[in-house]
This record gives sequence, C-alpha cells and structure tokens, in this order.
Amino acid sequence: MAGALDHARWMGEALALARKARELGEIPVGAIVVHHGADMEPRIIGRGFNRREVDDDPSAHAEIVAMREAGRVLKSWRLLACTLYVTLEPCPMCAGAMVQGRVERVVYGCADPKAGAVDTLYHLCTDVRLNHRLEVVAGVEAAAAAGVLKEFFAARRSERAREGDGGRAGGHSRAEG
Ligand SMILES: [Zn+2]
Repeated sequence: MAGALDHARWMGEALALARKARELGEIPVGAIVVHHGADMEPRIIGRGFNRREVDDDPSAHAEIVAMREAGRVLKSWRLLACTLYVTLEPCPMCAGAMVQGRVERVVYGCADPKAGAVDTLYHLCTDVRLNHRLEVVAGVEAAAAAGVLKEFFAARRSERAREGDGGRAGGHSRAEG
C-alpha cells in the first residue's frame, strides 16, 4: 500500500486552481485527480477549474475538466486508483461522473448547501443502489475553500451594486465620491 495521501497538501493544489478560475471571472472551484498505487509516488494526472463561462459549456465544472485530462493520461475512462480533490462539494453531475469513472476516493473542501450531491442534498457517491461507491473525505481545508468563494461573491455583489448605482452603462467608471 502507498502511504496515506496528504490531503491538505493536495487540496492546496486544487485551491490554487480555484484562484485561477477567479482570475478569469469564473466561480472559483478547482479540482485535481491524483493517481496513486502500491509501487508509485502519487502524482497529479488531471487538473481543472470551473470554465463554464470561458468555454460556454454547462458541463465544464472543475471535476469534469480534471477527469477528462486524467482519462487521456491513463488512456482509460476507468480512473482506478485515483483520488479526486475538489474545493467544493460536487454537484449531481460531477458526483455521477465520478461514479461512472470508478474513482476510488473523493476529497472535498467546503459543503455546498445548494447543489452538494455527496453529503448535503444527495449521497450519490455512497448510494448502495449504484454499481460503484467512493470513499468520501469531507471538510479538508474547508475554511480556505469557502473563503475563496465568499470573496468572489462579495466582490461580484459590490460590483453589481456599483453598476446599479451608476446605471447599466456606467460600469466601473463611477467611483465612490
Ligand atoms: Zn459539478
């Protein structure tokens, strides 16, 4: 057996990707896929961040982007011996894709009260009626993961408030007097 994965360390990589999404104006969620096994050093084989806006793609969530890359690296849709790290609890689409991909384990940061499908609204990763189940580790670096999201939405709200204040065309130009 490989030694225990350092969840906080790998989550740090996912958090860095979330910040990258924020720079592009995307809701900041980041994910990585780590391949691990008995005789190997764990390594990242997939990286993703939310790119729905830049790609005009409703399925371009961080987890999907990371799993697509991992599949290309492994040359297989079966992501065996893989752990997916994601900053936010996965939605139904992503939790479903992880089950489909036979991912071994999911480690997430903060819970998603509006769409969480691992623990919060649904339990898709541990539902015994499905043909595959994942080990779930929740709450790793949760405060940092939630912080990135909170900052993003707070900035967006204040931006919108400014726009509302100055009229739609005013945009950023109208500074506070
Ligand atoms: Zn998702």
